[in-house]
Amino acid sequence: MGRFKHIPDPRSGSPITVASDGTLDIPDDPIIPFIEGDGTGRDIWRAASRVFDRAVEHVFGRTKRLHWFEVFAGEKCVTAGKGDEEYGGWISQDTFDAIRTYRVAIKGPLTTPVGGGIRSLNVTLRQVLDLYVCFRPVYWIEGMPSPVKRPDLMDVVIFRENTEDVYAGIEWRQGSEAARRLIAFLNDDLCPSSPHTASKRVAPDSGVGIKPISVHGSRRLCRAAIEYALRRPPRPGRQRSVTLMHKGNIMKFTEGFFRDMGYLEARENFRTQTVSERESWILGNREADGNLGDEANARMIEPGFDHLAPADQRGVIEEVRAALALWPTHGEGRWKKKLMIKDRIADSIFQQVLTRPEDYDVIASPNLNGDYISDACAAQVGGLGIAPGANMSDGLILAEATHGTAPKYADQDVINPGSVLLSGVIMFEYMGGGWERVGEVIRRAITRTIKEGRVTYDIHRLMVAEGRADATKVKCSEFADAILSHLA
Ligand code: NAP
Repeated sequence: MGRFKHIPDPRSGSPITVASDGTLDIPDDPIIPFIEGDGTGRDIWRAASRVFDRAVEHVFGRTKRLHWFEVFAGEKCVTAGKGDEEYGGWISQDTFDAIRTYRVAIKGPLTTPVGGGIRSLNVTLRQVLDLYVCFRPVYWIEGMPSPVKRPDLMDVVIFRENTEDVYAGIEWRQGSEAARRLIAFLNDDLCPSSPHTASKRVAPDSGVGIKPISVHGSRRLCRAAIEYALRRPPRPGRQRSVTLMHKGNIMKFTEGFFRDMGYLEARENFRTQTVSERESWILGNREADGNLGDEANARMIEPGFDHLAPADQRGVIEEVRAALALWPTHGEGRWKKKLMIKDRIADSIFQQVLTRPEDYDVIASPNLNGDYISDACAAQVGGLGIAPGANMSDGLILAEATHGTAPKYADQDVINPGSVLLSGVIMFEYMGGGWERVGEVIRRAITRTIKEGRVTYDIHRLMVAEGRADATKVKCSEFADAILSHLA
């Protein structure tokens, strides 16, 4: 009797397990579940799996080998009849169980089903497997054409919360009975009309959605971002930082709350390793003037201090005292070596990643902001065809091509496999234990291939626009061949 309902057990290989210290124990023959993906997923998977296998051989000789185990989601799942009825045939419990069992998996893009009771297969995978981090590193590969003058300055890692926010899918269609009842409840019970709340009433002809942002969801995401930022090798001349991206000036109890939870997580669990931006100002002010009083310091960090209500003024002075209590571990410039925790309003980040990308290191954000900022940053370094990503939980990773199925190019062997290849690099880095070297050689080989101008149509188009005469347009499979030639 096999482990799964619709698919046979893997024919060979051993499962990855979790060691007692929480790290992954990787056998020499790990079983890696993969979802091929729809549309151009077929092209990019064919190309990428060849590169992955050869890179493993390049690093380990014949002592280690990946054992691919196909699991199903999307159109292929429907046509092969491998899906469960409750998901309209688009995915099955087997897929969730296999990824949970084998811990390290990779996927291509998936069509969003129309009907079938699920909104998006990607969102379903993230929610069912509770893959709470969407990890999106954005860096420039030398030789990549870019719409900005200094793409090399972009080197950020985005931690996007992956399970809640408006992506929770709790919303009701305009005109539905549920929408009507919810609007009545909001207007009659929570926002009864008065001169002060009239503007808060929901128009009766609205569609409505819920934006949950929880303590648990925000703190674990920020914890993962801080842990990663502390591990990340410092980049020369740059402050190590985690920026909490939010729109808390408008959505105080959701996005503002996310920011508050980020600071709380840093204070409670990473006190000696981190400093908040405001704490750094307070400590710096005192270092510049040893006689500076607490109130004068409060006035320096809070420009509107004199116009605050007395209780709020006292709050700022308390904040000054709390920061100065850190003197033994953070004072006399020691804070400069700590991981800086700062926050920025979402709209300002969008212009700053263009004008001052070097100010950003790790960005932690709720789900929707993270979705937008990841693609905006990716556009600066070559676009979606080359942007990698992964969904993660504790001891679980599902690396994924971040672009869609690009159906108009399906089975034409033209699409860029860079995104899924670099997502594989993230997967190998996550595995650790020497497997990260596989990722390194793939990244180096991709860089060389792009530098010599052997590129798929999307990069070729940009190179031609930049006037690069030596650019050669190659197919998806030929791009993989070129990468392999650098592994030889
Ligand atoms: P898309 O598939 O990402 O394609 C949009 C455009 O992006 C393409 O026409 C192409 O631009 C460019 N592009 C995407 N991938 C590329 C690659 N590997 N190499 C070069 N260029 C690439 O977005 P979409 O057309 O909006 O979505 C199509 C389907 O994919 C939908 O069903 C959507 O739900 C799904 N989707 C899945 C995922 C996922 O599985 N993670 C993510 C997003 C969307 P040019 O035409 O300019 O060459």
